[in-house]
Amino acid sequence: MSAAPDNRGLATRCIHAGTYLDAATGGACSPIFTSTAYGFPNPTNENIYPRYFNTPNQRVIARKMASLEGGEDALVFGSGMAAISTLLFSRLGPGDHAVFQADLYGGTHLLVTRALAHVGIETSFGRTATELAEAMRPNTRLIYVESPSNPLLRCVDLAAVADLGRDRGALTVIDNTFATPINQNPIALGFGAVIHSASKYLNGHSDVCAGVVVSSGNLIRELAETATDHGGMLDAHACHQLERGLKTLALRVRQHNENAGRLAHFLQAHPAVARVNYPGLPGHPDHAIAARQMRGFGGMLSFELRDPSGTEGLLGRLRLAMPALSLGGVESLVCVPARTSHRLMTPAERARAGISDGLVRVSVGVEDIGDLLEDFDRALAPGRSFTAPMRELRSHELRRR
Ligand SMILES: *Cc1c(COP(=O)(O)O)cnc(C)c1O
Repeated sequence: MSAAPDNRGLATRCIHAGTYLDAATGGACSPIFTSTAYGFPNPTNENIYPRYFNTPNQRVIARKMASLEGGEDALVFGSGMAAISTLLFSRLGPGDHAVFQADLYGGTHLLVTRALAHVGIETSFGRTATELAEAMRPNTRLIYVESPSNPLLRCVDLAAVADLGRDRGALTVIDNTFATPINQNPIALGFGAVIHSASKYLNGHSDVCAGVVVSSGNLIRELAETATDHGGMLDAHACHQLERGLKTLALRVRQHNENAGRLAHFLQAHPAVARVNYPGLPGHPDHAIAARQMRGFGGMLSFELRDPSGTEGLLGRLRLAMPALSLGGVESLVCVPARTSHRLMTPAERARAGISDGLVRVSVGVEDIGDLLEDFDRALAPGRSFTAPMRELRSHELRRR
């Protein structure tokens, strides 16, 4: 797959790639096209209709995302799960086998273990590139990974997985939601398709649910047929909101990276914290892999409290970081996976997956870092006053405003 010939920087492409030029007024933004009926016959002979995934506002997102991920084309969906399910069902049928990374996003895990199994698609799981290779069978048609993964931020060697897929004739797919195209471009490493839940960083403001697949022109043409059958499209107004969010993606992600790195180091040094999972920390088991294939380490981290019974108190004492599911918005969010995303697993299953009761996941927002550090320090050590450097940092941040 040849990357789109766009040599501009990522921040420039976030703003300008794909914009619908408004010839009527010269407006700076893509207009919103609300029609569901478009003239036919017409010179291009293309039947435009929202459920055909080809309206002007859907194409704006497709062109921008293809540019950002270095693919030939893209499709925008009504949710991340619509993107994932449509891609899997367009590529897999009864008797086919697919290999999945073990720590999948919860919704994807349910889709794979329920819907795929129901129609006779065989599945296996592996954690590392080596384990994924061992899980391959003669009928393996697809390899699917998430890197960094949820909630331990494990990273898999993407170049090794891409080689495996190429050698064995299997399509390699990655859910790149946590990394974003600002931090990681898997197609450049040899991947066949990239998926995003655009509900997270791509939109970035916790107010749109959407999904994207980026790939080759051929794969996207095939996918559009299945997508038209399944019907999981995004409407024009949501496309417009997503386009607006995408314009600041590079700016936001750089700040997410910076804030998460600062919070990770702070938590690592905190006496109430037993362990921090952040790929940017040299002690993370996959730090070397992440450093090789990522430009930034992202805005997601998790940490383990020394006292596992303290999670509820911690969440109650945080004033800025909000206890909530989802991630990737400008605001900091915290959750306890053992009580939320992974609550349906048995304690033994959770232990095997490395998810302890004291594990807290943080989607680190783009607030002033001094305010965030103060919030976590206060919540982690009730009764203790803030450390002097932090007070200084905070007043410095306040003075700057
Ligand atoms: C949220 C999420 C999804 C699902 O996306 P929706 O937009 O909620 O359907 C898939 N993968 C990852 C990694 C996610 O975080």
